[in-house]
Amino acid sequence: MNDSKIRVRFAPSPTGPLHIGGVRTALYNYLFARKNKGKFILRIEDTDQTRFVPGAEEYIIEALDWCGIRFDEGVREGGDYGPYKQSERKAMYRKYAEQLVASGYAYYAFDTAEELADMRKKSEAVKKTFIYNADMRHQLKNSLTLPGEKTKKLLETKTPYVIRFKIPQERSIKINDLVRGEIKVRSQVLDDKVLFKSDGMPTYHLANVVDDHFMKISHVIRGEEWLPSLPLHVLLYEAFGWDKPQFAHLPLLLKPDGKGKLSKRDGDRLGFPVFPLQWIDPKTGEKTSGYREEGYFPEAFINMLALLGWNPGDEREIFSLDEMTQVFSLERVGKSGSRFDPEKAKWFNHQYMLKKNNRELAQMFMPLLKNHGIIADTEYVEKVVSLVKERAHFVHELWDQADFFFKAPESYDPKAVKKRWKQFSYDQITALKTLLAGIDDFSPENTEAAVKKWLEENGYGMGAVLNAFRLLIVGTLKGPHLFDIIALIGQEETLRRLETGLHELGRKE
Ligand code: GLU
Repeated sequence: MNDSKIRVRFAPSPTGPLHIGGVRTALYNYLFARKNKGKFILRIEDTDQTRFVPGAEEYIIEALDWCGIRFDEGVREGGDYGPYKQSERKAMYRKYAEQLVASGYAYYAFDTAEELADMRKKSEAVKKTFIYNADMRHQLKNSLTLPGEKTKKLLETKTPYVIRFKIPQERSIKINDLVRGEIKVRSQVLDDKVLFKSDGMPTYHLANVVDDHFMKISHVIRGEEWLPSLPLHVLLYEAFGWDKPQFAHLPLLLKPDGKGKLSKRDGDRLGFPVFPLQWIDPKTGEKTSGYREEGYFPEAFINMLALLGWNPGDEREIFSLDEMTQVFSLERVGKSGSRFDPEKAKWFNHQYMLKKNNRELAQMFMPLLKNHGIIADTEYVEKVVSLVKERAHFVHELWDQADFFFKAPESYDPKAVKKRWKQFSYDQITALKTLLAGIDDFSPENTEAAVKKWLEENGYGMGAVLNAFRLLIVGTLKGPHLFDIIALIGQEETLRRLETGLHELGRKE
């Protein structure tokens, strides 16, 4: 029986597509849960209705599915601690906000937006930043400054209000973060954050803490951008008298030049996707690319992401999700931001390409061949793939590396012709054609040995003949070992291509 008390959650807000930094947060939570035989929960934090984006929740779920990151409990899986969507838990938050008011940790504030804007202006005039805090709250309109009767009246007459947390005036808050170590914050730098809004919804802070408590979350593992909220969250746990979870704030993902955080807004601007899947903005119809559509294997994508901020303590770089699960630990998550390296991302995909078996790759390649009007036999495609996969980062690059296995050249690369089709080429290739026509066993070893022997006997330059030969077979100078190519396309096709080439290029004057 699984009696681990480890429970972690990924708690995205459906305000748009999931950024790759978010995928990494989900991944680390997943790995931590699996490693510790705990539970992994998906909670949708949709309390900010002004930022709700249709399709975002579905996108998040589809993206994590694609990555192979599975949940034990969540909006789709259900579980004993649901509902797992905050808008469906709405009814419970008010009670907790009011509980804090009753116990003196929070208060009602009736200031209107205009009044607050006015205060802000006044502060600016004397070069001060307006903060709703212990110094200011006594000059504002709230249940701390108004007589009890007045507050009661305002509430009864349904005057819009928010509930704010009353940050203690002078406290040093000490928190231990599993990644960053001990953090100390003075309460003077904090403001009286809104916990409950006039629209009857909790803010992120209240809902997040209440849910983490009732969902029995043991470890909060999230991005560093939430670190400034941590002191407030810790004070909230204290105010409720609840045990707090352990915290781990993950380092930021940085732009490739190391200057600043890699953000959602970077979209395709830097020449690589920042989203796992393609995203089509429901309002503007604007398309932003995704790793899946760019041709990344999910295993490669996940492997690349895992190493942006965590390391296994040795030089290993290639890990399956299961292997990562065995070795993952929060102790090996770094403190400093990790630069995103788009070239390294491609390198990972290439490594996975090499790891895949040829049958699997052939199956992925066949639909692309079909788009080029080619129906080929699986076994043949497998052999082709085995020869060219070394040269591609993505399945969609295979066609450029392998087109000549499926069709004779339609033209010859002019640059290559200029460089490699010499006066003597016509006669040499004519003789070579006769030689090849006489070989019974067309295996690469056999043709190579025969051709090399013939080159030597005639004193022909190996480079000159083999490049001209390749030009007629491939159409350019690219491709794997030439004798492997001709073995695969076969003797008849080889002779036909030589014949056509001799005819097309003719004797050079
Ligand atoms: N809803 C927050 C987000 O969108 C969750 C932060 C947290 O994990 O506490 O990232």
